[in-house]
Amino acid sequence: MTFKELGLAEPILKALEAEGYTHPTPIQEQSIPILLGGKDLLGVAQTGTGKTAAFGIPILHQLYEGISLSQTKRKVKALVVTPTRELAIQIGESFTAYGKYTGLRNTVIFGGVKQGKQVNALRGGVDILIATPGRLLDLMNQGFVSFKDLEHVVLDEADQMLDMGFIHDIKKIIAKLPPKRQSLFFSATMPKDIVELSRKMLGDFERVTIKPEQATAEKVEQGVYFVSKGNKPKLLIHLLEQQPKESVLVFSRTKHGANKIVKKLDQAGIRAAAIHGNKSQTARQKALGDFKDGKLKVLVATDIAARGIDVDDLSLVVNYDLPNVSETYVHRIGRTGRANASGTALSFCDKEERPYLRDIEKLINQAIPRMPEHQFTDEDGEVDKDDRPPRTPRGPGKSGKNKTRPGGNNFRGKNNRNTSKKKPNRNTSKSND
Ligand code: AMP
Repeated sequence: MTFKELGLAEPILKALEAEGYTHPTPIQEQSIPILLGGKDLLGVAQTGTGKTAAFGIPILHQLYEGISLSQTKRKVKALVVTPTRELAIQIGESFTAYGKYTGLRNTVIFGGVKQGKQVNALRGGVDILIATPGRLLDLMNQGFVSFKDLEHVVLDEADQMLDMGFIHDIKKIIAKLPPKRQSLFFSATMPKDIVELSRKMLGDFERVTIKPEQATAEKVEQGVYFVSKGNKPKLLIHLLEQQPKESVLVFSRTKHGANKIVKKLDQAGIRAAAIHGNKSQTARQKALGDFKDGKLKVLVATDIAARGIDVDDLSLVVNYDLPNVSETYVHRIGRTGRANASGTALSFCDKEERPYLRDIEKLINQAIPRMPEHQFTDEDGEVDKDDRPPRTPRGPGKSGKNKTRPGGNNFRGKNNRNTSKKKPNRNTSKSND
């Protein structure tokens, strides 16, 4: 299947070609025909699957076909609501890229900055509005945004909206939407509250599900190091020193933890920056910009802040802490191996995090390969037999093929033996396969 076969307008095909997209990703292949047919869509998919283009391309196509470019003032005909400013900015960039030959205009509005420029952009007239919920409501209440001409509405990352406490804002926004519209609802997970919310928003819809296993098992090579909490900084420094040229995204469960990691790396002479909710908008944009441009090789992020990160050459994701919500692991490792690329995700697991590891493996239906012994191995205590990977991979299909070890040893510890001069640790040998 090619984009041409999907029947897209010439200017959009030209832009996709300029982007270097040759074939639609599975979510695009499935969603674009449904949306061009005018139906609503429930997309169960995470970022990294090509989701933005899956909704952006058909919206641009439909607007392009219907638009009178000579009209004096553009009216908002498509609205995308997304939880974070990083995501909003990236979605805006995608619309600009895919729509660059269509003459359609978009603008992005988000909180944390003065509203003046955003209001001016709206006053100038736009076809597509990308917004975070709080600022959208704010500007709606001030009369700067009208839904009168709205034809397409996208609610993106609904589960994250819920996590971030936006549910009431979202309900208020949905209540103001015109009844005649095409609605698109995307969420990586579908807990009960999200199913209810989707029912409120969608009319006659079709569902497209892109399973997390597809994103993880098939494209991202994974590995886990057993390491004590105290030794995590040393192991991270060791891995980074081995790969000074790679772009590495390090995940920390907490904001404070992210700052601490940056400090430790700094002390070791490795330049890194943290992005999380307590950093100013300017600091976040600067760190993200430097990381995308390759000026900064190591970015440390919390889960919420990282959702908006889309970096082409991200070769390694390090889970410095294992997330206690298994689906978060899938989101995290989805930052590498995006669309058609492949990547590596390495996790650090201390004793307290072992239950999380088991939950994650259950969710992805795959055993995460254990990395070889290293000098910073877990000295906290026993590695019990449950922590060894199952001998036969669980579950059917491709995940069972199990890509054994990540990327050509590149990210392995230098020493495959426990070089600790202290008492020989009989437990460490058990931690390996
Ligand atoms: P998303 O899930 O929308 O965040 O997209 C993930 C990444 O895949 C982005 O970097 C897109 O530019 C890229 N991408 C989306 N669709 C395609 C495609 N059909 N071919 C190649 N890359 C794509």
